[in-house]
Amino acid sequence: ATIARTKQVEEKVGAFNSYDEVDALAQADASDARRAAGNSLGPLDGIPVGIKDNLAVNGQPLTCSSKMLEKFVSPYDATCIEKLKSQGAVLWGRLNLDEYAMGSSTENSAFKTTSNPWNLDCIPGGSSGGSAAAAAAGQAVMTLGSDTGGSIRQPASHCGVVGLKPTYGRVSRYGLAAFASSLDQVGPLTRSVKDAALLLQAISGHDERDSTSYRTETQNFVAALEKLRGRKWTLGLPKEYFASAADTPAMKPVLEAIEFYKSLGCEVKEVSLPHTDYAVATYYIIATAEASSNLARYDGIRYTHRAEKFDAKDSVDIYCQSRAEGFGEEVKRRIILGTYVLSSGYYDAYYLKAQKVRTLIRQDFEKAFENVDALLTPTSPTPAFKKGEKSSDPLSMYLSDIYTISANLAGIPGMSLPCGYSDGLPVGLQILGKPFKEDELLAIANEFE
Ligand code: GLN
Repeated sequence: ATIARTKQVEEKVGAFNSYDEVDALAQADASDARRAAGNSLGPLDGIPVGIKDNLAVNGQPLTCSSKMLEKFVSPYDATCIEKLKSQGAVLWGRLNLDEYAMGSSTENSAFKTTSNPWNLDCIPGGSSGGSAAAAAAGQAVMTLGSDTGGSIRQPASHCGVVGLKPTYGRVSRYGLAAFASSLDQVGPLTRSVKDAALLLQAISGHDERDSTSYRTETQNFVAALEKLRGRKWTLGLPKEYFASAADTPAMKPVLEAIEFYKSLGCEVKEVSLPHTDYAVATYYIIATAEASSNLARYDGIRYTHRAEKFDAKDSVDIYCQSRAEGFGEEVKRRIILGTYVLSSGYYDAYYLKAQKVRTLIRQDFEKAFENVDALLTPTSPTPAFKKGEKSSDPLSMYLSDIYTISANLAGIPGMSLPCGYSDGLPVGLQILGKPFKEDELLAIANEFE
């Protein structure tokens, strides 16, 4: 059914960079055989899970939607993929993204722009736009994305699905093509809160191949939905977020959702995150610095695009030509920005300063969480915008991340939950939680659903 549905709508939605029907059917047959023999591997056995094209699946293309990796086939599985395989999930397709996950609209893909299934003239959000669109359009039962500054939550919000960025360290990053290593996390995009709990549980856990992976016990997220049901949560509204969001069309459904929580008997109070204004600047210094370093490995020598013409007498020229041809405009912009903020004359003024502000932003959250269980905010300042509307103005694109990036800087978990519509387009409510309290986030979201 998933394959049929994919074919029916893919020409319009364009969520996939590629898929392998024969391979998917073989995985599904193997699952059927296990079921028939009474050896089912659990709730995900036989469930088609779409995979963002920056996660390594052995034997499948891994393009990061970049010309640089257009012909690259992964020789190994990411840890989250290994876990899904061991639980019988059917890995289905390679989902489009902004090149190397840099963007908010999927328009930075070197191959195509994915359309929003709710309005094909609009972007699906990004960078996990393919993952959100495929989940929304029924082209997979659930999908995996990655979130460095909002790339799971913002497209989930624009496509009307549930998206969850786990606490930093909850899910192994081994096998995720690195964008900004201190911010990246892999997480689920699904059509229900329960599915998000299932998929998060499936991919969580310590991994010695990722040195930043935490040795923490994986909770039973699905059981938590029932166990925590009906709890009277104390929920905070960060006043800085609501001041800037007051007049945006995305606000009405968010305010209605807040009223709903009050009607359940939850206490809702204002909190302050005083360093919010600095979050976008801090993020775009740290993320570009890390990206410039991570992307240095794509050199045209080992496994990436190699220019056909270069000056054979100048060994550096092969790097320059290959990188000039292989990387798109936004990726180059970030490499240049990142190299600049790390350069010896400017390191203290930009990178070191940004690290200090990052600590202040994390402390804002620690303070707020002394008085509340979780925070409620809009996920995005606007619903999905029209294709082309922001693509010539990188700064306005960067500003569409204002509500999501702080969670990555602080390392805390965040979730986007569909809460209503504005002009026929879905709007997401963001729930931010304490580190490693994804069980609480999911339970709070489950009350609304
Ligand atoms: N939109 C943000 C950026 O362009 C976030 C991307 C992400 O989370 N991967 O960096």
